[in-house]
Parts: sequence; C-alpha cells; structure tokens
Amino acid sequence: MSYTYHAPRSIAELMAVMAEKKDGAMVLAGGTDVMVEIRAGHTPQALVDITKIADLNGIRSDGDTIHIGPTTTFTAIVESPIIREAAFVLAQAAASVGSPQIRNRGTVGGNIVNASPAADSVPALVALDAGLRLLSPAGERTLGIEEFLVGVGQTAILPGEVLVDISFPALAPKTGSAFIKLGRRKALAISRISAAAIIGYDDRELMCTDCRIAVGAVAQSPFRVRTAENIWKNCSLTRNNRDACVQAALQEISVTLGQRASAAYKKQAGPAIIRRAVDAALGQVFGGWEQVL
Ligand SMILES: Cc1cc2nc3c(=O)[nH]c(=O)nc-3n(C[C@H](O)[C@H](O)[C@H](O)COP(=O)(O)OP(=O)(O)OC[C@H]3O[C@@H](n4cnc5c(N)ncnc54)[C@H](O)[C@@H]3O)c2cc1C
Repeated sequence: MSYTYHAPRSIAELMAVMAEKKDGAMVLAGGTDVMVEIRAGHTPQALVDITKIADLNGIRSDGDTIHIGPTTTFTAIVESPIIREAAFVLAQAAASVGSPQIRNRGTVGGNIVNASPAADSVPALVALDAGLRLLSPAGERTLGIEEFLVGVGQTAILPGEVLVDISFPALAPKTGSAFIKLGRRKALAISRISAAAIIGYDDRELMCTDCRIAVGAVAQSPFRVRTAENIWKNCSLTRNNRDACVQAALQEISVTLGQRASAAYKKQAGPAIIRRAVDAALGQVFGGWEQVL
C-alpha cells in the first residue's frame, strides 16, 4: 500500500496537514521505529515528516525550566551542556541508546511516543517529572509523562495530536542523578531493566532532601517507586536508609513483574541496578559513602 509524504516547514503547516489527513496521518521523526513498522506492513495513509520544523528541535533553558524539542536527537542531548548541568540523568540515558547511528537519528519525542517499556530516555524523564505539550488542530494540552504512557506501545495521544515540547524543572544544586541500564549485550542492547535516580542532599544535616527513582522494563511503562522514595526522603543519608529504600523498591517492582518468565531474574537484578543508580547519583555531588555510615 502506498502513502503520501509531507514535510511541513512550520508548526502552522504541520497543523494544516494534520487537519487535512486526520486519523490517516503518521508522524515521522528519526524513523528508527516508524520504518520498522512500515516494513512490517503497518502503512499509514500519510507520513508527516516533522524534522524540517526548526521550532520542534533543540534544547533551551527558560529560567529553571528546561525545554527539549521532540525532534532533538539522542546525540544532541548527550552533547548538550544544559542537559549535562541540569539533568545529567537524561544525558546518561541518551548515551546508553543503541549505537552511534541510532543516537544520531533517533529522537527523544519518538522514544516517548513509541512507548516501549524499555525506552531508555523515559525512566530519566519520569524521574525528572517531565511534562509533554501536545498540539492538534483542535487545540493544545499538557500531560505528565506518566499520565501520557498508558501501556506497551500505547499512549494518551489522540488522532491529529503531535508532541511539540518536553519540559521539566532543572535539578537543584547538590542534587545528583544517574541512569543505569542492564542489557543483554554491550552494543545495540534493548534494556532488560533500567533505573534512573535523582538524589538531593543537605550537607549540614546529612539528610536526603530529594529522592526520585524510576524503573524501566519491569512493567508496561517506566514508573516511579514512590513508596521506596518516601522511605528515604527527608531522612538521614545512611546506608541503612538507602538499603531500606532499595528493598521497598524491590517490593514495588515484584508486584508489577507478576509471573512473567523474566520475573525471577529481574527480582535479583533489580535491586542491584537501583542501588547502583542511587550510589552513582550520590557520587556526583557527594564524596561517597565513606563520609557517612
Ligand atoms: C537497531 C535499533 C536499536 C535501538 N536501540 C534502542 C535503545 O538502546 N534504547 C531505546 O530506547 N530505543 C532503541 N531503539 C528504538 C528507537 O531508536 C527509539 O525508540 C527512538 O527514540 C525512536 O525515535 P525516532 O525519532 O526514530 O522515532 P520514529 O520512528 O520517527 O517515531 C516513533 C513513533 O513515535 C511517533 N512520533 C515521533 N515523534 C512524534 C511527535 N513529535 N509527536 C507525535 N508522535 C511522534 C511516530 O509516529 C511513531 O509512532 C532502537 C531501534 C533500533 C532500530
């Protein structure tokens, strides 16, 4: 089956195409997922290439809020001084994607909308409390990323809507962050389990002031282990509290893993990955565990 190709140059032109093609339009960004789908026989009526629209690309800081255009590639994220400074966890997640070719073509917007449980940028964006701005000919709305992701390959996006902006608050000073991924192979590995951690600390009180942990590839979508976070947040920065937090995270992921074939393996690997992410996050801003308990 053939399809028409459209390459709007502005958001206004994009909206005109979306209004005309309605349900028949499929957005094309880097194409690393779309082309696989098309080859598998899922052909749209119209392919709408959004990579020619300058306003949908790039990273900027607006006060304490970071904005990323959806067609920004993983390579651009890895190389961005803004992201390295304000959201190191996302730079690490982007660096762990596939191969240089995939990082050069694949976009953060495509990674989100593709909604794979193993998408590498998503746990980082979930931990960062990212908001997603969606635009359609009917209007615009903003959803939190956890609200947006509703299942494997499924999102809350409506026909005609395009993701036009990803934003989140810059991390505060004395806040470290890290992403750890366990894949099957070193290169081109889709994540078998991943964790993104953001840890803030107060050096006078030796308290954990911020604790955000998101896990990937253990449920239909990456999610925050909030019970575990609350065990450590506003408590002392001790190994015991860290371990209690990781243990609680294991309880939370055990529920979502259920009886799937990989559950036994992921229950073993999960706590180790989460602990490594938390320790790496702390290591960024803090001298290491030797300084406390
Ligand atoms: C060999 C290989 C290795 C890979 N390795 C990894 C990996 O290690 N980690 C990982 O996370 N992923 C990996 N992927 C998956 C893929 O590269 C990523 O999901 C990538 O981010 C998709 O981005 P894209 O720009 O190519 O999206 P596209 O393929 O262009 O689009 C993906 C989906 O999102 C929709 N879409 C894209 N942008 C928008 C938008 N702005 N608004 C609305 N809808 C939109 C498209 O319609 C489509 O449904 C790999 C893929 C391949 C082929």
